Amino acid sequence: MLRKETNGIAWHEFEGLEGSGVIHAFLTRLGGASAPPFDTLNLGHTVGDDLAAVEENHERAFAELGIRREQVVSPYQVHGAHVRLVSQAHTGTTQPATDGLLTTTPGVALLLRFADCVPILLFDAKQRAVGIIHSGWKGAAGNIAAAAVTAFARHAGSRPGDLWAGIGPAIGPCCYEVGEEMADTISQISPEGIGVLRRREGGLYLDLPGLVRAQLAEAGVQQITLSDVCTACHTGEWFSHRAENGRTGRFGALAMLA
Ligand SMILES: [Zn+2]
Repeated sequence: MLRKETNGIAWHEFEGLEGSGVIHAFLTRLGGASAPPFDTLNLGHTVGDDLAAVEENHERAFAELGIRREQVVSPYQVHGAHVRLVSQAHTGTTQPATDGLLTTTPGVALLLRFADCVPILLFDAKQRAVGIIHSGWKGAAGNIAAAAVTAFARHAGSRPGDLWAGIGPAIGPCCYEVGEEMADTISQISPEGIGVLRRREGGLYLDLPGLVRAQLAEAGVQQITLSDVCTACHTGEWFSHRAENGRTGRFGALAMLA
């Protein structure tokens, strides 16, 4: 990924989308106003942080990305598998109980929030549609990745083979230890022949980005890029729910058609 930084706000972008007409950013935790343990660019309103600081963080991030607040649509994320089409009428709102947004309208900015769960950027250059999906293990259990591919087909006329997917910073198999019960669930939902559980030092570790990639591939997506950035390994730049024992902020993943 490409790392960019202006006025202390730092974000990562996938290479290969320059000139495609999609603006996107995975915002790091740097450059914000929040105090520990939400330091500093926390975009989560429901984690216990000072709300004035959270608002200030949004202002700073949008300013560097050249986005106006009135253009932004966010969902209230619930670890479900619902993906919603949004347009101009939804800007400035928070959508209830949704873990994926897509739009075909230029100038509508999608913002979702993360701390270990997998952010998926989906883009169809032919039909001009973009989306961001939030998939933790519950989202993966509900196969929100496949639900997103279906939503692109229904709302934008996208063929799965035309979709470009970028899997952003998330907790990696190096750090995501899971229990036996969850391992059973994961085994049942994993696409055939995909090994996403690894046993070492007596523990079981889940490759959640790998699972999401497999689900996207099974749904027909052929162009998939992984950031290979583990949030729990890099808490200097990313919020990690696991590595920071649940007391941390949320970083933003943002996308918009120019
Ligand atoms: Zn790690």
